[in-house]
Amino acid sequence: MTDRQDSAGAPSGTKDPAVASDAYHAQVAWEGASPTQPKIGRAHIWRSRISWRIALTVFATLIIVQGAMMFFTIQTYRGDILNGLRQIARTAVIAAINDDAGDQKSPISAKQARHMFAGTSVEGFSVYDKGSRLLSSFGQLATLVPSKDPEERVSALRSPNGMHLDLLFTPDDLNQPYYIVARMNASMIDTMTNAQVRQLVTLLLLRACFVTAVLMLILGKWLLEPIMLLQDNLLSAAKNPEKPDLKRLESETRDEVGIAVRIANDLIRQNASNLRRLRSQAEDKIHRLAYYDGLTGLPNRTYFLEKLDDAIRHKVVEEDRHLVVMSVDLDHFKDINDTMGHEFGDKLLEAIGKRLVKALPDDAVISRASADEFTIMAVLRPEYPESEALVDRVFSAVSEPVSILQERFQVRVSIGVSQCPDDGAEARQIMKNADIALNRAKEEGRDTVRYYSQDFDLAVQQRFQLLRDLRAALDQNQLQLYYHPQFDLKTGMLIGAEALLRWWLPDNSRDGGYFVSPAEFIPVAEQSGLIVPIGEWVLRTACAAGREWQEKGLPPFRLAVNLSGVQFHKADIVGLVGEVLQETQMQPHLLELEVTESVFMENMQMAIDTLNLLHRLGVELAIDDFGTGYSSLSYLRQFPIDRLKIDQSFIRNALVNQDDRMITKTIISLGHSLNLKVIAEGVETVEHEDFLKEEGCDEVQGFKYTKPLPADKFEEFVVEHFREHAKKSKLSVVEGANKA
Ligand code: C2E
Ligand code: MG
Ligand code: MG
Repeated sequence: MTDRQDSAGAPSGTKDPAVASDAYHAQVAWEGASPTQPKIGRAHIWRSRISWRIALTVFATLIIVQGAMMFFTIQTYRGDILNGLRQIARTAVIAAINDDAGDQKSPISAKQARHMFAGTSVEGFSVYDKGSRLLSSFGQLATLVPSKDPEERVSALRSPNGMHLDLLFTPDDLNQPYYIVARMNASMIDTMTNAQVRQLVTLLLLRACFVTAVLMLILGKWLLEPIMLLQDNLLSAAKNPEKPDLKRLESETRDEVGIAVRIANDLIRQNASNLRRLRSQAEDKIHRLAYYDGLTGLPNRTYFLEKLDDAIRHKVVEEDRHLVVMSVDLDHFKDINDTMGHEFGDKLLEAIGKRLVKALPDDAVISRASADEFTIMAVLRPEYPESEALVDRVFSAVSEPVSILQERFQVRVSIGVSQCPDDGAEARQIMKNADIALNRAKEEGRDTVRYYSQDFDLAVQQRFQLLRDLRAALDQNQLQLYYHPQFDLKTGMLIGAEALLRWWLPDNSRDGGYFVSPAEFIPVAEQSGLIVPIGEWVLRTACAAGREWQEKGLPPFRLAVNLSGVQFHKADIVGLVGEVLQETQMQPHLLELEVTESVFMENMQMAIDTLNLLHRLGVELAIDDFGTGYSSLSYLRQFPIDRLKIDQSFIRNALVNQDDRMITKTIISLGHSLNLKVIAEGVETVEHEDFLKEEGCDEVQGFKYTKPLPADKFEEFVVEHFREHAKKSKLSVVEGANKA
């Protein structure tokens, strides 16, 4: 059976870590081989900031280094030009010197000078003797004059506008006893230098660009490309950690960067794989929490409904089969839990779950729908064509005694059955009908099976209508209180009255309406929570009436008000009682609150605490319908109560049924042993009264004295009762006096 296998085994999505790791390696291998995987483009490199920073730095460095080198190159170049000019001038001067000229005369004639000016860039010269005395001068006059002191002697001088260069030739340079200063045209020095500079700058730029580009290509390929790929992959992993879109390098290198990139990619994949595994585990866990019951491991109601939906679609609609759905509720599970403890209750539920699984066919779906309710779905087959066979199996499987913690325990169940397609074509409808049938089984005394019938629906509809009417009745003041007197059994004196709710529901009948029985509407009010405002109204009305009667001068008597367990647990009953007493100025000891044993079931300690608080307000407390509930007698001592009220069913049958007689006797003596007053309700006959007198019961209430009366009639009854009583006691005083 798939559901039970699901519930017992590992959830389908859970993966073994080893398997997961294999899957990871397989995936890595697959991703490595993928031809469609995106690769990083070179164009990206030029978009990277670091690329630009490196490129500019390299470029600038190249420019600076080459610029410095160019400076020295230009200096050398200029030196070479100067040397060339000097060589030209020297050659021209030596060629023009006349060796025969005596010491006092210029060795160069004017004719030779003109010849020199025409053939060379020499534009003028001056001849000095060894003593630096000017012998002759031709052409442009040079500004350089040879100094006698060799230390101060300047060998070349450029004119400020740079157009001329004066060159000094010493006797050593010329091997002649003269100093000759020649003026050269130097305009071409700058022209040539500029041309050289232009050429060098162009070369420098070309070289810088070329080197930068080559370097960038190399850096891009080996360093930037992998780093940018890594960046892209990390970004992709951050965006989609479970399925990152990982890119690969065009050619993977085995250097440090290549290895780092590979490790990072592997880590990203590993992380993705771990995340996927964790998510899948979390999903499985959520699935289990959302769809399975933790205690029994069975599917829960939500999952059951999904399965039922599926079964209706595939088995009923497609295969024309019939489905049976059961709502199985353990009777009085709450009591079992309270008396035997939660551990026992849990074990019992587990055991019942296992039994159901064992008793039913494999394709049946069994779920734990709530604390003590199981729902079952099974497809009818040729082996069990009728649902009865399956229902019987469930009934006897659960009813058989169970052994838990060395205790044998008998569980009773109520089962509601509905069928598909007979009782509905939708999962929710069928479930609802099974629940309606279950409620019917519970209402009809539990420990039984009920099959859904459309009449049940009618009953549910009627309940809803009743609730709507009751709500309107509360709003429109259609509720009334009747008062049922209570008497001291020994003296026959009226000592109190129980306030009982009455609802007159108007209709079109001859009577104009009818009284709805509290037994009919109180459970509906309790289920819907409407009992809280209704109970508040009852308390207020009863206390106000009690106060009014006291003010009118009636002898003091107690008023008993019924409290529902719902008021006890879902409303601030202590606050309300205190408030109403304050508001109405009712004396607290004249108010009695009746609670049934059911208020102790939900939370015994909390009930005891609340009763203690109520008692501290000064009100009296009684346990109503005593003997019909399941309260543990051992707790009775802890209840701060004043009175036990024996349920009317025991009184009614006390004279004909030995058990009920015994129960009544026991309650009376139990009450007395605990110093409690005991009141009996349902006293209808003199025989009842005699029996109770005999057993020493303290107080009585019943139709023998009167039926419950509306406020005005009750007031008359009280006035009459005390008048009669006063008359009787006067008479007895007179009789006594006469006798004396
Ligand atoms: P209960 O508190 O046990 O009230 C006693 C019921 O027994 C009343 O029925 C009363 O009329 C009836 N009774 C008393 N003596 C006799 C008798 O000698 N013979 C017969 N045949 N019946 C007798 P009632 O008024 O129909 O109330 C039924 C139940 O409805 C009450 O049982 C109580 O549980 C609930 N109820 C009535 N009024 C209120 C209310 O104001 N608040 C709450 N929470 N429950 C109320
Ligand atoms: Mg009562
Ligand atoms: Mg009662």
